[in-house]
Amino acid sequence: MSQTKQAEVNSQVMFDVIVVGSGITGGWAAKEFCEKGFKTLVIERGRHLDHPSPEYNDMKAPWQLENFGIASETLQEQGRYTQLLAKKKVLKSDSIQFFADDKEYPYSYPSEKPFMWTRGYQLGGRSLTWGRQVLRWGKKILKLMQKMVMVLLGR
Ligand SMILES: Cc1cc2nc3c(=O)[nH]c(=O)nc-3n(C[C@H](O)[C@H](O)[C@H](O)COP(=O)(O)OP(=O)(O)OC[C@H]3O[C@@H](n4cnc5c(N)ncnc54)[C@H](O)[C@@H]3O)c2cc1C
Repeated sequence: MSQTKQAEVNSQVMFDVIVVGSGITGGWAAKEFCEKGFKTLVIERGRHLDHPSPEYNDMKAPWQLENFGIASETLQEQGRYTQLLAKKKVLKSDSIQFFADDKEYPYSYPSEKPFMWTRGYQLGGRSLTWGRQVLRWGKKILKLMQKMVMVLLGR
């Protein structure tokens, strides 16, 4: 089938739900929708990544990584990842590929309200860079969340 014909067919496919973003939020929502039988489409702005992929270095020891896991100073000289660098002081070569570079994707904020916006534009979003600490929520916050959901649903 020609590419134009294929695109035409694709554009006629109907979905019950379209989820924007494949991070923890979108990914989980999509899973729930699929399991409930909704025809679900996930749109992701970032690049595709296989899971697992050779880009994952989580289980590697520092000596198995290039330059012991410290990213090239050239990035700093080129003014890239400035926000991340301001916070972390050192960029790590094992995971830098999963962070959006603020030089490539700039954003602005009022000077009196500096804001660090850490983004990950790839399949899985920031689930590839998070620290894996999951705080247990108490009864008070769970009740508050329930109220918020009710308000959002207009009940
Ligand atoms: C270094 C780091 C450590 C962290 N550690 C922890 C921790 O230990 N514990 C914890 O609870 N939280 C932690 N967090 C926070 C946690 O990772 C995030 O709150 C969570 O991953 C956010 O998930 P999300 O799906 O809401 O957003 P994201 O993961 O940012 O996903 C959004 C997705 O949407 C895509 N997207 C954006 N715009 C568009 C568009 N217009 N069209 C299509 N796709 C789009 C993006 O590419 C991305 O894939 C950490 C975050 C970072 C960066």
